[in-house]
Amino acid sequence: MKPEGMNPKAMKAEREQLLSTMQRLLQCGLNRGTSGNASLRVEGGLLITPSGMDVEDMLASDMVFMNMEGEWEGESQGARKPSSEWHFHLNILKQRPEINAVIHTHSMFATTLACLRKEVPPFHYMIAVTGGNTIRCAPYALFGTPALSEAALKALEGRRACLLANHGMVVYGRDLAHALALAIEFETLCEQYWRTLQLGAPVLLSAEEMAEIIERFRWYGKPRGEGSNPIQGC
Ligand SMILES: [Zn+2]
Repeated sequence: MKPEGMNPKAMKAEREQLLSTMQRLLQCGLNRGTSGNASLRVEGGLLITPSGMDVEDMLASDMVFMNMEGEWEGESQGARKPSSEWHFHLNILKQRPEINAVIHTHSMFATTLACLRKEVPPFHYMIAVTGGNTIRCAPYALFGTPALSEAALKALEGRRACLLANHGMVVYGRDLAHALALAIEFETLCEQYWRTLQLGAPVLLSAEEMAEIIERFRWYGKPRGEGSNPIQGC
């Protein structure tokens, strides 16, 4: 399927941003091999990482354009297939017009908790940067299916991140830099929670304490310059 008017060579800067995000995920230890994928909203649709490619072999030209109807450049034109998880990338971008980038990884600590189907509780104040008091774990659904997309969207209600049972994690942000910073923070929180669990049950923050933190983070999500950003890269 080739979306009307699509020029595969267009959007060079956006393709490069998507590639460099995948490279950063690899450098930060959040991604290995061919798992993990990312997408970026562009005019008329989205760019998404290709299916089944090692990040080290990816070129900017391998990024796949998909329109908002879920149609992509045909393989006959030499284009790659989109990530098998294109359903949730497309549906998140459709449902959240205010966000522009989605990242999915099988990072070690998030995936460990996802395999336990554990919701991450308010054990640390930085949980608030993901948008609520907890980080939910979406129920299990087969990878690459609309059912997984539906489960992820439900777990993401009012949140910027979720775990996917027996699979990994999803985050989204206003741009790729924001989504990448959140992915790094999310993985850090999962590691901290996992380490805490080795010593016992953490003392959780109360609903009142979390409400106070969320209020402090209310400016979070605004463009740079409107408040200092608590999220840093690795
Ligand atoms: Zn996956």
